[in-house]
Amino acid sequence: MIELRSVTKTYGGAACIHKLSLTLEPGGLYCVTGPSGSGKTTLLRLIMGLEKPDSGEIITNGADFGVMFQEDRLLEGFDAADNLRLALGIKSRPAARRELPELLEEDALDKPVGKLSGGQRRRIALVRAMVLRRSCYLLDEPFAGLDAESAARALEYIRRMARGSAVLMALHEKDIPADVRRVIRLNNQ
Ligand code: ADP
Ligand code: MG
Repeated sequence: MIELRSVTKTYGGAACIHKLSLTLEPGGLYCVTGPSGSGKTTLLRLIMGLEKPDSGEIITNGADFGVMFQEDRLLEGFDAADNLRLALGIKSRPAARRELPELLEEDALDKPVGKLSGGQRRRIALVRAMVLRRSCYLLDEPFAGLDAESAARALEYIRRMARGSAVLMALHEKDIPADVRRVIRLNNQ
C-alpha cells in the first residue's frame, strides 16, 4: 500500500499539487486527469521518488515500480525484444520476444524501434513497464497516439498484467475506465 498524506508541490509559487491525500491499494486501478500542465506527471514523479514534496508525506512501504514515462524512452537502434532485454535485464532474448506479440504486430517485431510508428513504440514502452512483476505500475498517458481499438486492447493488457498490484494512470478524461477506484482531478489553480 502506498500512501500520500496532504502532499503539496509547487513550482515558482504556483501550487501544482495542493494537499493531496491518496492511498493506492493492491489491485486498485487509479487515474489522475487534468489539463496539460496541471501536475499529472509531477504526481507520478513524486510517487516514484524523482521529486520531493514541499510538504506532506509519501509512504511507499518499499514498493517497487513499473514505469511508463510520458516519452517512450526507447533505444532507437534496437528492436523491441532488445529494448526489453536491455532495459529490464532479461537474459533470454526469446523470453523477451515472447512478451511482445500480444500488443505488437508480427512484422514490427524485428525492426529497430526507430523505424516503427508512434503507436507501435508506445505499445513497446507499455510492455516494458508491465512485463516484470512490480507492486505498483505508474503509467503516464499510456494510450497517447493509440487508436480506440488499440487503446482498449492496451487497457485489457494492463488489467491482466497488473496481477493484483496497484495501477495509477495519467489519462485524458475521456479515456478513464468506468470501474476505476478513484480519479484524482488536477486543475491549474
Ligand atoms: P502535466 O503532466 O499534467 O502536463 P506536469 O506535471 O508536467 O503537468 O507539470 C505541471 C506544472 O509544473 C507545469 O506548469 C510545469 O511547467 C511545471 N513543472 C514541471 N516540472 C518542473 C520542473 N522540473 N521545474 C519547474 N517547473 C516544472
Ligand atoms: Mg504530463
